[in-house]
Amino acid sequence: IGGNPRAAPSKGIGSVSTNAAVFLGSYLIKGMREKYMKLSQGGKVQVTYVWIDKTGEGVCCKTKTLDYEPQSIEEIPEWTFNGTGTGQAESDNCGMYLVPVKMFRDPFSLDPNKLVLCEALTSNRTPAETNLRQTCKKIMDLVKDHRPWFGMEQEYILLGIDGRPYGWPNNLIPGLEDDYATGLASCCVGIEKVFGRDIVESHYKACLYAGIEICGINGEAMPSQWEFQVGPCEGIEIGDHLWMARFILHRVCEDFGIKATLDPKPMPDYKYASGCHTNYSTENMRKKGGLNDIEDATEKLGKRHNYHISVYDPHGGKDNVRRLTGEFATSSFHEFTTGINNCSVGIRIPHQDEQEGKGYFEDRRPSANCDPYAVTEAIVRTTILNETG
Ligand code: ADP
Ligand code: MN
Ligand code: MN
Ligand code: MN
Ligand code: MN
Repeated sequence: IGGNPRAAPSKGIGSVSTNAAVFLGSYLIKGMREKYMKLSQGGKVQVTYVWIDKTGEGVCCKTKTLDYEPQSIEEIPEWTFNGTGTGQAESDNCGMYLVPVKMFRDPFSLDPNKLVLCEALTSNRTPAETNLRQTCKKIMDLVKDHRPWFGMEQEYILLGIDGRPYGWPNNLIPGLEDDYATGLASCCVGIEKVFGRDIVESHYKACLYAGIEICGINGEAMPSQWEFQVGPCEGIEIGDHLWMARFILHRVCEDFGIKATLDPKPMPDYKYASGCHTNYSTENMRKKGGLNDIEDATEKLGKRHNYHISVYDPHGGKDNVRRLTGEFATSSFHEFTTGINNCSVGIRIPHQDEQEGKGYFEDRRPSANCDPYAVTEAIVRTTILNETG
């Protein structure tokens, strides 16, 4: 990881920082790898264990050789890692566990190799600090008869080696600068408006190969800002699929020598920010007359705005303070709002729901760097378990 995007020169500035040195790895001759990737593995299988890092925003991985091809998650053994190295444990109690929870195909080293999402546990087998999956799973098991579905829209910004949005000219001339700031790039096509489509398309294919429930991609408001969508997935699955899709994104970006940031606002002077809109429905909402259930749910959510905001980013709401300004298709951090087909509210009820009297709704508040386990657990607690306060 090189360069702190928050420390990057913000507006229209030219100098390329010395961070470039940190990115030397990007200049390896990437094509060379192909020669080795074709070598036979002698019947062995590589399994890459992936888990959430100490920040709760990124991922770690390490790879193990098995002498058989696992056919299901049960056939992948638990493993351990040194938590001091990842900053997840003290050195006098450093061994931590990796418990496999979801297996995918490996789009980087190809079949029969696997990626496996893991829960990280401490040495006494309690969840690691940033392992929010265990409680989420408990809640999802409790409400499984309601068949909760989620679809999450992951926005992100590509950064170049200078820590600035990838592809932006070094000297944004006045006037042109406005084009970058006003966010006219949503769903755009053309070299002057979108940067890094190769990365986006590679990520999309890699996710499909892996078996991720990725349902689409689009260019976003700011040039070099993009979005992919995962879902609909039931219960705990949405978190599992989104986290692995994020791993694949960071890994594809390594290949291209680019960084993807999920920080909601890496360019503080620019208007647009990255979110992770969370679309949600229960079986009743999807049935005839479901609009009533949707309205009930949004009413319950309206009474717990502060609780939801506190878990919709990894810093108790601090990230969303920067993002939810009430401008540029965001709602205000400070108040709960809802509306039909309105993009400046916290909860948007799609136009289609009104027409059909059923469907799903969109919680637009979660930040791009949110933990999907925390977000989906909170939505279920409020709307199905009727928790208050
Ligand atoms: P937007 O119009 O807000 O940009 P997108 O097309 O980007 O919407 O994303 C829509 C999301 O809604 C997708 O992630 C999709 O999986 C999800 N979705 C679709 N149907 C449902 C449903 N019935 N319940 C929950 N989520 C759903
Ligand atoms: Mn070692
Ligand atoms: Mn979208
Ligand atoms: Mn979007
Ligand atoms: Mn949306």
